[in-house]
Amino acid sequence: MTDALLKVEDLKVAYGGIHAVKGINLEVRQGELVALIGANGAGKSTTLKTLVGLVKPAGGSITFNGENTARLAPYHYVNRGLVLVPEGRGVFPRLTVEENLQMGAHTRNDKAGIANDMARVYDLFPRLKERRLQLAGTLSGGEQQMVAIGRAIMSRPRLLLLDEPSMGLAPIIVQKIFDIIRMIAAEGVTMLLVEQNAKLALETADRGYVMESGRITLADDAKVLLANEAIQQAYLGE
Ligand code: ATP
Repeated sequence: MTDALLKVEDLKVAYGGIHAVKGINLEVRQGELVALIGANGAGKSTTLKTLVGLVKPAGGSITFNGENTARLAPYHYVNRGLVLVPEGRGVFPRLTVEENLQMGAHTRNDKAGIANDMARVYDLFPRLKERRLQLAGTLSGGEQQMVAIGRAIMSRPRLLLLDEPSMGLAPIIVQKIFDIIRMIAAEGVTMLLVEQNAKLALETADRGYVMESGRITLADDAKVLLANEAIQQAYLGE
């Protein structure tokens, strides 16, 4: 087994008196696509936000690439390749598609590499190439999700954290976004994916974690979780 790129041990997060994350352990190895599933309010988004320093942990440890990253200042996370695509996407509505993508590369100065990655993003998302001069705020929800993922790719992530990429999108667009997620994974980008759409997430991932009320209750190969009857009843609508 290879060493974990990300290792989370006994992580606890509280908002005032609300204990959103109650001592979880999880890891992501280099090249893996790992899904974190669970009901509304289980603590999934809080976990991702804590991994990129938007929320500070109340206890436990986060080790990324051998370094303790639990309490860095927010801008250090992107430098280390820990990049979050937030729920609701967070595109800059008054900037064009291309300007949004360039923002993803703002910590880099390798011009040729940036141009290369821009071409790669436009290959992954031909729709964005067509619309590269359009203001991002006027794009459809699916297109904005593409911009958000494209912008993250522009920062050359070592670990890409995706929070609910299917949120609010029509089923056919969700399929498209997941096709792209598979393509990015096939290129070797390591990902931790939070999803309400548990079936799609587990069909796409290598491994999965199930989170309930701030705790990890199951962890296994995605295929094993898909075949688990309790999971099917609780999360897969079967
Ligand atoms: P969802 O899928 O609905 O986003 P989630 O699993 O991502 O759910 P979180 O958003 O992490 O869950 O929320 C976990 C718990 O923490 C919830 O009870 C939520 O109300 C609470 N919570 C989240 N953010 C805050 C905040 N800023 N202040 C206070 N409580 C919060």
